[in-house]
Amino acid sequence: MATSKPSKEKRTAPSDDSLSAWSGFYKKHVFERQQILARVRGLDEDDVALLNKEGPLPLSTADTITENVIGTFALPFSVAPYFLVNGKEYAVPMVIEEPSVVAAASNAAKMAREKGGFITKYSGSIMTGQIQIMKVADAKAAASKLTLEREAVLAEAREVGKFLEVFGGSVQGMAARSAIGPTGPMLIVEFTVDVKDAMGANMVNTIMERMAPLLEKRTGGKARLRILTNLSMNRIVSASACWSAQSLGGEEAVDAILDAWAFAMADPFRRATHHKGIMNGMDAVALATGNDWRAVEAGAHSYAAIKGASITTYRKNADGDLEGTITLPLAVGTVGGSMKANPCAALGQKILGAKSSEELAGVMASVGLAQNLADLKALSTEGIQAGHMRLHARHIAAVAGANPQELDRVVEWMSANKKVDANGAKEALAELRSK
Ligand code: NAD
Repeated sequence: MATSKPSKEKRTAPSDDSLSAWSGFYKKHVFERQQILARVRGLDEDDVALLNKEGPLPLSTADTITENVIGTFALPFSVAPYFLVNGKEYAVPMVIEEPSVVAAASNAAKMAREKGGFITKYSGSIMTGQIQIMKVADAKAAASKLTLEREAVLAEAREVGKFLEVFGGSVQGMAARSAIGPTGPMLIVEFTVDVKDAMGANMVNTIMERMAPLLEKRTGGKARLRILTNLSMNRIVSASACWSAQSLGGEEAVDAILDAWAFAMADPFRRATHHKGIMNGMDAVALATGNDWRAVEAGAHSYAAIKGASITTYRKNADGDLEGTITLPLAVGTVGGSMKANPCAALGQKILGAKSSEELAGVMASVGLAQNLADLKALSTEGIQAGHMRLHARHIAAVAGANPQELDRVVEWMSANKKVDANGAKEALAELRSK
């Protein structure tokens, strides 16, 4: 069987004494880590003071969430109002540094209200865990044997996953198949698990790790990976909305949006950026609610890749209005992870007010669809730079020292004089203040 060839390149470890600074770094107190970093990277007193600046997430709590913590890192915490989802009003918390995203989402949500807002569907909080088993004599035959023993294997898995019962979760199904990879044939055993209102990664991984030795015993093989898949095909959410042709700028605007969407359906290069725009909105909600945005990304992009199509679809209805739908796997929770530890995440959940995974997923999918509609509308009409540059100009003006009362006038001056840069902002400020 083909295996990966050993590399002929000679590799040697660099002898760098400065690495000794990092020895045991993880075990040190945050203040000690800061001092080491200051020495190694030449940080001054102000830099260290910034690392110690008190924010909503206490340093001592941050130190319990991940490793090698030296401080906390702030991002703008915004809210996108006007979301009407399944008849309920939401002000959606969003954490993102990119200009225009929050404005675009709330604007598209506001326009969708005329036709009743967003309607969502959810397949249930069903995650899938995988166990890879190597060194079985005949992987295909082993898969068939396990399929025959399905009920017995499931009974073991349910026993192992008994801890889920407290909140109504359970192991639901089992499937086995074989595959061939670069290191040989393998048996893949998959379990579906209802994780209710959690994202569920830790819970599923726990069950996979406990099931692995039992499956080794049954198959005589060697279990390797025991982990969930982020392509959660049994945890699918969809959101639909309708925008009147009038609110979008008329029939030509509807056609332009349909053409923009068709580009993403026809071309993978456009599709990548199309989905990036969708994830701008969804990631921002994931971050604001303490959810794992990398998991959300992995699921969405893998799903789009196997479909070979956009995760949104649009059509013009009989009235000439635009109907849109987004469909994707979405594993997000209202409990678990670092949600309780991070006060901002808890606050994000409180602002949103979703009571279940299903409700949260529905709102997030609605944000993704709103974001996509807003992107397609802007791209197919005025382009996105105008909006981006307006916000960019405000940022430059603030950095140049404009106070809140001066901001709008500085931005106006920079646009009128076509000098949207740091020097332009300084010039504008000098001129305004001299008057
Ligand atoms: P978790 O371990 O915190 O489990 C959820 C907890 O919530 C459980 O203790 C459960 O008892 C409790 N709970 C209370 N009420 C519940 C309800 N109604 N429904 C469900 N659970 C309820 O977290 P998790 O959700 O199992 O895992 C999420 C974490 O795993 C995230 O931090 C994520 O970043 C991380 N993670 C992700 C991956 C991946 O995506 N590939 C891999 C490993 C870990």
